[in-house]
Amino acid sequence: MCEAIHVIRFPLCLSLPSHFHFCTFVCVAERANLPRNMIENSMFEEEPDVVDLTFPALDPDEVVYEPRSSRLLVRGLGENELDEEEEDYESSARLLGMSFMNRSSAHRPSSSPYTRQAPSCSRPSARTMVVCVLFLVIVASMTMVLYFLPGCTFTRTGCPKSNSTTPIDPAYPNSTNGELFPWTELRLPASIRPLHYDLTLNPDLKTMTFTGHTVISMSVQHNTKRIVLHSAELNITKTLVMSAVLSSQCDVTVLEYKPRQQIAVKFTEELKAGQHLVLTLDYSANLSHNYDGFYNSSHTDKNGVKSVLAATQFEPLAARKAFPCFDEPAFKATFLVKISRESGYMTLSNMPKVTLLNGLLLDEFEKSSVNMSTYLVAFIVANFTSISENVSDTLVSVYSVPDKKEHTRFALKTASKLLQFYNNFFDKTYSLKKLDLVAIPDFLAGAMENWGLITFRETSLLVGNNSSRLEQQLVASVIAHELAHQWFGNLVTMSWWNDLWLNEGFATYMQYMSLQREFPELDTDNLFLAMRFRALAKDALNSSHPVIVKVDTAEQVLEMFDSVSYEKGASILLMLNASLPGEQFRKGIIEYLRKFSGLNTVTEDLWNSLTQAEVTPQHQSVSEMMKSWMLQKGFPLITVSRSKGQLIVFCTILSLWHIPVTYVNDSLLTCYIILFVSDNLINNVKWLKLNYRNTGFYIVHYGDEGWKALIDALNQNISVLTHEDRASLIHNMFALSRLGRVTFRQVLSLLNYISNETDTAPVTEALSQLTTIYKLLDKRQELGLVARMKAYILNRFDSLICKQTWGEELSASKQKLRSALLESACSLDHPYCVQNATELYKQYLESNRTKQIPGDLQRLVFTVAARSDEGWVQVLQMYAHATYDAEKRKMLQALASTQDTRRIVWILKAVLNGETVQTQELPLVFSTVSNGFAGHLFTWNFIQENWNRLIEKFPVGSSAIQSIITSTTSQFSTQAHLDQVQGFFTSLKERGSQMRVVQEALETIRLNQCWMDRNLPAFRQWL
Ligand SMILES: [Zn+2]
Repeated sequence: MCEAIHVIRFPLCLSLPSHFHFCTFVCVAERANLPRNMIENSMFEEEPDVVDLTFPALDPDEVVYEPRSSRLLVRGLGENELDEEEEDYESSARLLGMSFMNRSSAHRPSSSPYTRQAPSCSRPSARTMVVCVLFLVIVASMTMVLYFLPGCTFTRTGCPKSNSTTPIDPAYPNSTNGELFPWTELRLPASIRPLHYDLTLNPDLKTMTFTGHTVISMSVQHNTKRIVLHSAELNITKTLVMSAVLSSQCDVTVLEYKPRQQIAVKFTEELKAGQHLVLTLDYSANLSHNYDGFYNSSHTDKNGVKSVLAATQFEPLAARKAFPCFDEPAFKATFLVKISRESGYMTLSNMPKVTLLNGLLLDEFEKSSVNMSTYLVAFIVANFTSISENVSDTLVSVYSVPDKKEHTRFALKTASKLLQFYNNFFDKTYSLKKLDLVAIPDFLAGAMENWGLITFRETSLLVGNNSSRLEQQLVASVIAHELAHQWFGNLVTMSWWNDLWLNEGFATYMQYMSLQREFPELDTDNLFLAMRFRALAKDALNSSHPVIVKVDTAEQVLEMFDSVSYEKGASILLMLNASLPGEQFRKGIIEYLRKFSGLNTVTEDLWNSLTQAEVTPQHQSVSEMMKSWMLQKGFPLITVSRSKGQLIVFCTILSLWHIPVTYVNDSLLTCYIILFVSDNLINNVKWLKLNYRNTGFYIVHYGDEGWKALIDALNQNISVLTHEDRASLIHNMFALSRLGRVTFRQVLSLLNYISNETDTAPVTEALSQLTTIYKLLDKRQELGLVARMKAYILNRFDSLICKQTWGEELSASKQKLRSALLESACSLDHPYCVQNATELYKQYLESNRTKQIPGDLQRLVFTVAARSDEGWVQVLQMYAHATYDAEKRKMLQALASTQDTRRIVWILKAVLNGETVQTQELPLVFSTVSNGFAGHLFTWNFIQENWNRLIEKFPVGSSAIQSIITSTTSQFSTQAHLDQVQGFFTSLKERGSQMRVVQEALETIRLNQCWMDRNLPAFRQWL
């Protein structure tokens, strides 16, 4: 699945820095304020599911299905706990800077995959190795990994203790009919495995209901007396079971346990392993009014005629709302789908259509040629039109409502080119004969990778003739992401949602890699860089989580669709690829896809494939290296300091993190990957920049002297560093400022160079950081400081703002630069900006909207126009009649930017009711309204008053709810607001108090509070 909203940023300069060098610094990775729970998490997550031998012998039926993994999930087991001795060991180890995680690897060679250097990097000598080992002991004791969190928000929360020695009797819950329901777990038992589904669906688009007939063939894996599967909101009217033993079909009673959305059939006689069964279920249900399951949607054409349609969104847990099924990713099966429809409608499913049966309006689709997880099944009944193209024996089609057919061309061209790219890159041709990409008028996520039938929100697929490069960039990114899933996710699927990053991190990484190669004109490099900065910011919170984490409830499954799975996942894959030689990464991926084609995997399988692809003699497990990145939350801070100008030490095999450290400096023309402590002596090095091009997932503190040297170098000549490195310095400096590691005077000192900056990445990063501070001050009504901050920002960027043109611009990078600059400038009332925007809007109206506003400037121009009463009403009218959704969204953002409180209330109600504004836009409206001073208190009140309706539309834990909470609370910085937010969410109990995003929100407010306390005096003095 692809989340809807991306912040888009661009690259410009790809030139290499003019000087690089080996240098004379000591690197000490710090381990300050390391929260206890971080280590504990790493311990538990390393081997998350361990069978406790004190537990009574297990009936095989009680083992939760996990197809190939060595792990067993056992009923009634909690997390492991350390005994006293282990805890002591752990404390001592921590004092020595060693981690529990490395204990098991104490006897492994101390080399790592990084001991082999990148082609351009020198290899450490044997002497170096010895020095290294000795030094490592010293360094290890000094090594502190900073868990990126100021002390003032530190909370000591240990893992919950579980009583793992007491056997737990199964406490079967009551079914809806009062009988005991024969299963107690969230995960289904492993005793039955589905092989094939025959699905018949009869949707009625007048009554918005449907009936279904599901026939599931299955095999018995272990002797059992029950079949347990999923079903939600389905009214099951008839159930039959047939098996060789039962000899004939017999009626059976289905028991239902609604809290876990499970149904079960109990047998008096045991079903024997190896038997085959056929379960037939008839049922009826309402089409969903939300955005998951089999849901209804509608659209109005340009003549005002309304059409209805029905589509599906199953990931992660909603296939069970359309048909009874074994709704876990590891229960793969084949599917044959039949859908009835009225004339005037067409149907689509994963596979090509076979035939129109008997002249009846019942479409049958081919039996799937591959085993699929249930969350990838999809079907649509609508009156769409399409365009198609044949690509390497695959028919690629793009579908939309008829009015928007002309907007589908870009998507078809892009999908076709990317399909060829992936066919080659993965060395495995796409598995199906057709690939449909469908724009759905109501769609909550950005897109969904259903096999052979990818569904999109209209703005993620359709591109108008006058679209900007930024719109093309967004659409191409989403298509690239979903196509990558056809291999990563569909062909090879994670066994359980705890490894969701295998799907999402990979698809996110591939989306940037494929676009960089196939569509360089879209400049997605800077987009990726900005994404990595975002991922670091999110993962810096103590309430973040490891990439792989236990998932025990339905809400926790939904919560996995977050920045860590997508953005951190992609970031660490980039880091890994950048540190492996040549084609090792790709070879490993090819091997992984070949070996596990059609199967389910866990993360370790990917690392093993990448390790086996190693072509040089220096074998080392990728797994060992990546463990620290997968099982710990957060990321390291590396601190660099000079040691008498002579010795350099780069700590790479740290006690807690295996970090592939790269650097550049002012004397050598190469990028180095530092693999070991090295004693190279280099004189006369002026400056050093670690994390070349910011490919690593860590931040660096250079100390006062190191920062000063870098700032001096930039002030003399900005091109000594790449634009990524300059952006990375800005990002790291602000991050350190939030930690209290550098003063705000140092931040301002670095930003002095920015008057000479013309590249997109550093400018947008600096602007975004400064704007965040501006907004915090604004919301605190620190009026004097707000005015000074505004003057500072405008002054720093004034010459660049005035250099921007207002006509058509073709370069994606320049579009991004100017839209970011001008949007900031206009929001801060820069006269030149406001005047030009007003003039463009005037010309647009006077030409009767025939003189187009450049796509990248539309949002800004509409926003300035909507500041006046007259303008707001005009934009609202245009919004109501606009058909091109990308443009429509920009108008909506302009409307939501109003500071008129009555209009704010109107728009919040309109989007919640889905009248005038589609409810799918609620997260966007909330984030836009919250940005303004007038709006941010309204959104918070609105959430509190309408919480029940919100969670009716968007489930607890979903990305939409996460986004709404984050955007509404992230600008609070007072104790009063902290108390309010805490009080409200605590009162929700099972309606949302347990969400991780709530912890993130509370922590963010505390951090804002600390930052204010620390920096307000400095601001008054320096700004
Ligand atoms: Zn995805």
